[in-house]
Amino acid sequence: MHCLECGETVSQLDNGHLLECSNLTIQEYAIRHQLPLDLILHSDQINQPDHIENYARPVARPTEAARQALLGLRWAGLLQENDGFVDVAGEVRRLDLLLWTLNHLVDYGFQFHQIYEYRSDTHRVVAKNLLRAPLRNLVHDWAMPEPPPAFLGALAVYMAHRAEWHAGYLFMLFSRPIYAEAVREHLACNFHIHCQVLDASGESDATGGSLLRTLTLADGDKLLELMKDRLMTMPTAWERFQAITPQASVTKELVFDSAHFITDHPAKCSNLHGGRYVLQVEVTGRIDPVTGCVVDYGYLKRVVNRLIIERFDHHHLNYAAEELAWRSSTEMLCVYIWEQLIEYLPGLSGIRLYETTNSWCDYQGRSLAEQQVQGSESLLYPFRAKSDYTELRRRLIQQPGKPRMTACSVS
Ligand SMILES: [Zn+2]
Repeated sequence: MHCLECGETVSQLDNGHLLECSNLTIQEYAIRHQLPLDLILHSDQINQPDHIENYARPVARPTEAARQALLGLRWAGLLQENDGFVDVAGEVRRLDLLLWTLNHLVDYGFQFHQIYEYRSDTHRVVAKNLLRAPLRNLVHDWAMPEPPPAFLGALAVYMAHRAEWHAGYLFMLFSRPIYAEAVREHLACNFHIHCQVLDASGESDATGGSLLRTLTLADGDKLLELMKDRLMTMPTAWERFQAITPQASVTKELVFDSAHFITDHPAKCSNLHGGRYVLQVEVTGRIDPVTGCVVDYGYLKRVVNRLIIERFDHHHLNYAAEELAWRSSTEMLCVYIWEQLIEYLPGLSGIRLYETTNSWCDYQGRSLAEQQVQGSESLLYPFRAKSDYTELRRRLIQQPGKPRMTACSVS
């Protein structure tokens, strides 16, 4: 076989040769040269079995750095039990971060693997990068490590692997609500950095994960500043939040079927009628240098489903949300939808709502920072404030027909 990096002819390409000649792994070589792994690998490199005997026992007292790394990965939900092993999966784009993490986890007997699996469903060979250790090596630090590892060290590992930066806010998905709550409380009490818990789990999502978002723009800046020195020592961690990359807009379209009527409408829209609404949600922002995306379409869909579709689909709009009781027009719907979504999608740049194929409304509302200061649009709550004309109402509605009072009769 001919190596496209060094030009040598080798019996088979493996990481031993490639790391020597080009400092690439096989998977990176395959991507760089646009070659399917099937064409590069020999059959005995695929689906190689693994044995627990190949792994060293953990050291008696893992270092503090190792314990912090393990806790950060646990918060991130990256420790996956798998047939007697614990695997930490990493992406090929972030191989160096995975190896940085391994460097801290060797005390537990973790090893790096790039494994190649034949998938019978797609007839493709796919590569996976992972850190692996026998589950038995982690028993002492598996549940509640004592004493607890230092918070900021664990948080740095967590953030490098899991945090995302959207429009000036940090989003942090934790594998369990209890971790999210612990981190939120610790940041608030010790550093006066405030976060909000968001519910972004889907109907079919039984992971029980919990999402934190830094509360304000200032909280996001403060958290990055606090973590900067630590993140800068970790490959691809700091650049993920700070690298300047091109901007792009992404749009997701979802539909819901609803009934409504328009109060006091002079034409037939005052009658109860139904229809299919098509909602397009657009998010604009920088392309995350690690994911290559502005926002994950799956997250976008989950958020819109949870906050909007589940509320309105097969419901009566006027009774599904207080804000629409009087006017369930597309315009009012858009203002309402915007205010719901902006908390989860601070990069929200536009929504379009079709009531029919040839009638639609475009809307751009306030930024999250503006909404936090100014509150909800008062347009949505015309009946919250009591009428100022109390006397007039009582006199003319409660006691119709009573003679009008004159100025001199009021004492
Ligand atoms: Zn070579």
